[in-house]
Amino acid sequence: MRVGIVGLGLIGGSLGLALRRLRHSIDVTGVARRAESAAAAMQRGAVNRASTDLSDVSDCDIVVIATPIDQIAGVIERLGPIVPAGTLITDVASVKRPVIGWAKRLSNPSRFLGGHPVAGKAQSGLEESDAAIFDREPWIFTPTQGQDVRPFDIWFEMVRAIGATPSFMPADAHDQQMALLSHLAFALSSAFAETVHRNADSTLGGPGYRGMVRLAGGDPAMYEAIARENRDALVDAIDRFDAVLHRYRQRIATGTRVKELFSEGVHAAR
Ligand code: NAP
Repeated sequence: MRVGIVGLGLIGGSLGLALRRLRHSIDVTGVARRAESAAAAMQRGAVNRASTDLSDVSDCDIVVIATPIDQIAGVIERLGPIVPAGTLITDVASVKRPVIGWAKRLSNPSRFLGGHPVAGKAQSGLEESDAAIFDREPWIFTPTQGQDVRPFDIWFEMVRAIGATPSFMPADAHDQQMALLSHLAFALSSAFAETVHRNADSTLGGPGYRGMVRLAGGDPAMYEAIARENRDALVDAIDRFDAVLHRYRQRIATGTRVKELFSEGVHAAR
């Protein structure tokens, strides 16, 4: 089985490491933007070979696009004429609706299935890559209406084998869920970090503070792309949070059933 991975950072590198650890029969070809990244991925053992030439994935059975979101449209466009008509293409981007739109430009769009491993670390980059990050995490696939996903069974099998749990939902539903579960969490962590930075001495913060600001240390370019591509759902999520925070403020200011307020939080976090 030949797997091509385009983009050899945190997710692409981790995927390569996980697949290669799985079976020696899986052969991984990597493509990065810079030659140094390709060389680093080989040195790390994330790929069998790597280059900066997209045509090197032309003999792969499946190609996984693991570049930043703003590169995906261009990669899909260039891949179309490079890979044979039967080659499967998938991706790992954190927002799915725009990716599905870009894939429609392929001459055979049903060969593309959007995917998102709900896995990762606060920091991006190949140096953070780790075969274990997919273990016991969801991997959401977003077929278009009526799309036959059976050709991707072999990919679902590999996703399961590296420890993830495949699930399926429309791209819009995925993006709404992630706006709350992931993108809002980053925005809040960032806003919290700014609030503390402006008003307190962060060196006095303990584990609670560090836990809250951990996500804010992520790649601003990645989150900028996510905020752009999932703008409406993220704005809606922020508005919902704003309303809840306003209620917290009122109840705390007036001392009204504050224990119940936090009990609701305990219940919600379970
Ligand atoms: P990353 O660590 O910054 O790595 C990005 C990689 O893409 C780098 O190897 C980069 O190569 C390569 N690249 C950039 N443009 C390219 C191009 N035109 N052609 C080929 N390779 C190119 O990013 P990441 O965190 O792995 O994120 C990658 C994707 O995974 C994003 O779409 C993101 O939404 C998604 N995702 C991320 C997380 C997370 O927690 N980070 C979780 C789930 C999904 P160079 O090093 O040579 O620049």
